[in-house]
Amino acid sequence: MHDHNLSPESLMMSYGYKPELSEGSIKCPIFQTSTFVFKTAEEGKAFFEVAYGLREKAEHEELGLIYSRLNNPDLEILENRLCLWDKAEDCAVFESGMSAISTVLMEFLAPGDLLLYSNPVYGGTDHFIKQVLTKFGVHVVGFKTGQNQEEIEQIIQNSGHADRLAMIHVETPANPTNDLIDLDVCSRIAKKYSTDEQQVLLAVDNTYMGPLWQHPLKHGADLVVYSATKYIGGHSDVIAGAVLGSATLMKRVKGLRTFLGNMAGPWTGWLLMRSLETLKVRMEQQAANAEEVAAFLLDHDQVERVYYLGSIPEEDTRNREIYERQYSCAGAMLSFDIKGGEKEAFAFLNKLRLFRLAVSLGSTESLAQHPASMTHAGVDPALREELGISNKLVRLSIGVENAKDLISDLAQALT
Ligand SMILES: *Cc1c(COP(=O)(O)O)cnc(C)c1O
Repeated sequence: MHDHNLSPESLMMSYGYKPELSEGSIKCPIFQTSTFVFKTAEEGKAFFEVAYGLREKAEHEELGLIYSRLNNPDLEILENRLCLWDKAEDCAVFESGMSAISTVLMEFLAPGDLLLYSNPVYGGTDHFIKQVLTKFGVHVVGFKTGQNQEEIEQIIQNSGHADRLAMIHVETPANPTNDLIDLDVCSRIAKKYSTDEQQVLLAVDNTYMGPLWQHPLKHGADLVVYSATKYIGGHSDVIAGAVLGSATLMKRVKGLRTFLGNMAGPWTGWLLMRSLETLKVRMEQQAANAEEVAAFLLDHDQVERVYYLGSIPEEDTRNREIYERQYSCAGAMLSFDIKGGEKEAFAFLNKLRLFRLAVSLGSTESLAQHPASMTHAGVDPALREELGISNKLVRLSIGVENAKDLISDLAQALT
C-alpha cells in the first residue's frame, strides 16, 4: 500500500512490507542473513550493475538484494517508513547517530573545505568536528545561537576560507538550553555561498524534535540527521542513527556507508520498526507530560529559571518568532536552574526516585542529568559559561509515566 494521503502514523504498521513474500507473517521478520541468493547469474549481474552504478536503473527497477552491507529488507522497509515523517526522498540508517553524522561530514567535505557549525552541538559531534575533521585538513568555524545572519557571515569571512564553505551543520534546539537556531537564515547563507561548482549543503541534527515536531527539509535543509537512539528508538535499548534527504544526496551517503560498513544490522532495523509503530503516541504523551512538569517547575520557589520551549519569555522575541515558524510543539526536553549550585543540583538528583539519573533522552522513562559535569563536561569552561550551562543547571527528558507521579517525585527531591 503506497498511499501518501494517509498520515505517517497510519502507515507505520504496514508501509513497504508485503506479507505474501514472508509466509503471510503480519510483521516483517528479522532477515538475519548476510547474503541473498540470486535466481540466475543474469539476475546477479543486473543487481550489481545497479548497485555499482554501472548503468541507470530502468523505470520500475529496484535495487535487488545482494549482501546485507549494501541492503537488507529490515533496513529498506525502515528507511521507507522514516521517509514518511520528514517527506524525504530517501533515507539511510546507521548503527549509531554518530556514524550517521560522521558519514555525512566525511562524504561532503574535502581537505581545504570550510565547515560552519552551531554551538553547542552534541559532544560526540563536537569532538568529531574539532579533532577528526581537522586532521584531514578540513577548516571548521563555529557560531553561537543568538547570532544573526550578518554576524554569522562575518565569522565565515574572518575564517579566511569563505570561498571554500562547503557545509553548514546545525543542531536546534541547542542542548541543553533550548536556544533556537533560525534554519531560514542558515539556508539563506548556504544559498548565498553556493556557486555553480559547489552547492553549500545545510545539514540539521533533528534528534531533539524530530521526526514529529520539526521538519528541517521544509526550511531549506538539504540533509536531516538523527540519533535514532533517542525518540525514534524510544526505549533506551538500541543505538542507531539515520540520514534523510534528496535521492541524489542520499545516493552518495549510501555509497560511503557501503564502504565504511557502518549500516545498521537487521536486528536494529527490526527494533526500530517496532518503535515507529508507537512513535507518535509516545512523543505526544511525553510532550503533554513535559507541559505539566514545566508548569510545576515554573511555580517552584527552589527553581530559578526554566528552559522550555512552551514558556519562552515574552521579551525574547527572537526565540519566540523562530519557535512559531519552525516547531509544531514545545517538545519533551526541558532544563532548569536550581537555586544554589552543584551541591544543590546533586542533592536534587540523588533524591529522585522515579526519574532515573542517566544521560540520553527521548525514551519512555524520564531521565535527569547535570550537563556541566556530565554531557557537557568536555566543553571548554569559558564557552560553557557563555552558553548558560552552569553548575545549577539540570536537564530533564520527560517520559510516558503519569505526570502527577513525575511531579510528586520532583517535589520531594526539591525539598
Ligand atoms: C545522542 C545524540 C547524538 C549521537 O547519537 P548516538 O546514537 O549516541 O551515536 C547526536 N546528536 C544528538 C543531538 C544526540 O542527542
